[in-house]
Amino acid sequence: MRYAAPETLQSAVSLLAAANGDARVLAGGTDLLVQIRADVLDPELIVDIKKIPDTRSVSEERGGWRIGAAVTGAELKEHPRLKKVWPGVVEAANLIGSTQIQGRATLGGNLGNGSPAADSVPALIAAGAVATVAGPDGKRDIPVEDVLLGPRKLSLRRGEFMVSFLLPPRPPRSSDAYLRFIPRTEMDIAVVGAGVNVSLDGSGVITAARVSLGAVAEKVLLVPEAAQAIIGSTLDQAAQQRLEAAARGACRPIDDKRGTVQFRTEVAGVLARRAALIARERARNA
Ligand SMILES: Cc1cc2nc3c(=O)[nH]c(=O)nc-3n(C[C@H](O)[C@H](O)[C@H](O)COP(=O)(O)OP(=O)(O)OC[C@H]3O[C@@H](n4cnc5c(N)ncnc54)[C@H](O)[C@@H]3O)c2cc1C
Repeated sequence: MRYAAPETLQSAVSLLAAANGDARVLAGGTDLLVQIRADVLDPELIVDIKKIPDTRSVSEERGGWRIGAAVTGAELKEHPRLKKVWPGVVEAANLIGSTQIQGRATLGGNLGNGSPAADSVPALIAAGAVATVAGPDGKRDIPVEDVLLGPRKLSLRRGEFMVSFLLPPRPPRSSDAYLRFIPRTEMDIAVVGAGVNVSLDGSGVITAARVSLGAVAEKVLLVPEAAQAIIGSTLDQAAQQRLEAAARGACRPIDDKRGTVQFRTEVAGVLARRAALIARERARNA
């Protein structure tokens, strides 16, 4: 097994593209190293991207925010302005694992691991985040909802990796929230996760929304029907019921020891509604 820690995007791309066998990007290692130790993976090449400045910075860009793919959850939490503008994204990243894990775990790794239950992914999708990917043909942008195709299956091409995520500009009175259900208080995999992002007009009517659900399908879902159910409302009782029904209607979960199909479907509706209420409250005060 070879290890490389390039300092430029170009050299990382060249290494990944030229690899003979399985080549893996290393960010925090909280998934990759565990899987190597458990003999699930045996890569020929590991490319550590943390020395590449573009993957490690958080900056304002075109009225939005660009977050490096190798920035950790702990670093996001210590960014007061980002936390104020995108509280849902930051809280999702800080639900990952424990304090120790959050010091290593990154957004790029959470998405790159390819789990439909990854906590930060519904929040990124609800935010309308776009992943900037570098590869042999240069850079390209992919909406986050189009990166994960199924368990361990990404739309990235050979030699490509995620450099950063761009969160769009925030209209006034906008905010987001992420909630998950786990059988215990922390250190567990989401049975259901829900990210909601809303914008309000001056009288509190929702003018734009995005709703995303995790762990209820083979990939993290963007649920436009759930967003449509609340746009044009103040999130009154009737809109909440419509939202719950639309969220449940999108679910096609597996049945396993963590939750039955019926339980996951029921909880998806409840969490979508609760996350929407939190996002609306935050937007009123934004
Ligand atoms: C104790 C423990 C608790 C955990 N709890 C949670 C939890 O509550 N919620 C949750 O969602 N996850 C959890 N995880 C899983 C893990 O911590 C997260 O998925 C984390 O975000 C992975 O980030 P990383 O930087 O460590 O990724 P790495 O392990 O470095 O990489 C993960 C995968 O993504 C690929 N990858 C990394 N960066 C990129 C990139 N920029 N472009 C393309 N591919 C890339 C790697 O090649 C690898 O296949 C837990 C893990 C542990 C060990």
